[in-house]
Amino acid sequence: MTVVDTDRPKRAHHASAATGTAPKPAPKPADEPVVVGVDLGGTKILAGVIGAKNAILGRSKRPTPAREGADAILKTIVECVDEALEAAQIERGAIAAIGVGSPGPLDSTTGVILYSANLNVKNFALGGGLATEFGRPTAVRNDVWVGGYAEFRLGAGVGKKNILTAFVGTGIGGCLVVDGRVVEGAHGNVGEVGHVVVKAGGPKCGCGSHGCVEVFSSKTAIGRRIQKAIRKGVPTTLAEKLTKKSGKLKSGDLAAAFIAGDHVAIKEVHRAAHYLGLAMGGMVNVFGPELVVLGGGVTEALGAPWIELVHASAKIQILTRDSVNIPFVAAALGDDAGMLGAALVAREIVVK
Ligand SMILES: [Zn+2]
Repeated sequence: MTVVDTDRPKRAHHASAATGTAPKPAPKPADEPVVVGVDLGGTKILAGVIGAKNAILGRSKRPTPAREGADAILKTIVECVDEALEAAQIERGAIAAIGVGSPGPLDSTTGVILYSANLNVKNFALGGGLATEFGRPTAVRNDVWVGGYAEFRLGAGVGKKNILTAFVGTGIGGCLVVDGRVVEGAHGNVGEVGHVVVKAGGPKCGCGSHGCVEVFSSKTAIGRRIQKAIRKGVPTTLAEKLTKKSGKLKSGDLAAAFIAGDHVAIKEVHRAAHYLGLAMGGMVNVFGPELVVLGGGVTEALGAPWIELVHASAKIQILTRDSVNIPFVAAALGDDAGMLGAALVAREIVVK
């Protein structure tokens, strides 16, 4: 298992020429170069220009042209970055590096997204494309990895050295920090918290396996269960919301129904939290974190009651008294986590 030492970052993965030199001390804030962080998601792209002390100097947001494929996505990212630079009143030439958080799996050494169903791409040389366009080194990492990294360095995990993070949205992913280092794994594709099996022979998951926690606890899974209840004629205030438009569940609608006491919403939220807790509790036993951070759209919408339910389920799994008492908290950076984490990775390419 390889790790990134966040105190003295080792050679960062990036798509342009190698810059493998000996580590230098961490920079003073005044020396921190301006970098760009990009959060590439299945539905939207966020770009931010990040200055010293991780200040967001300018930002931009655009819908992801996911159906149009790689060329359109690259073009939109470039436009989004240029807009953020314009908002920050900074020229392209003044940025030192670009970091991107992207759905994967991907090859972080070459900046190639191997495939992504959400983005409709295969062997997409995103890092190389951006490095060519902007003439700057570019790093591409897994989206939840950079989100978890930002929470560790700048958000809910500041001051902690052992953290387990899970983001619950359309899917579920996470990030693990052990002894102050973000676990990177031998191949760079770690943090697949959503594909821990919590029920042998359970429903089929998008990954091809059965019974993964993602098929019980993601927003997609909760929506599927609620659709099933509606088809059976079970009364729920969500019926109207889910039969309109795409039929996709919105986290905000789920949270509103849950708070209003809708029986279907309550039942499905409890069920999802139960399974997520099983997975998290098991991982707490394996890694022994001092803090568990929960983020993502579902967590943001449902808030404290959701975190308490997940924690209660996890406690049943957790073996030691010390670990039973660790806090489960909400992520602190919200939608900016991916963008800020990508910027941190970008800075590590140029400042060693
Ligand atoms: Zn799976």
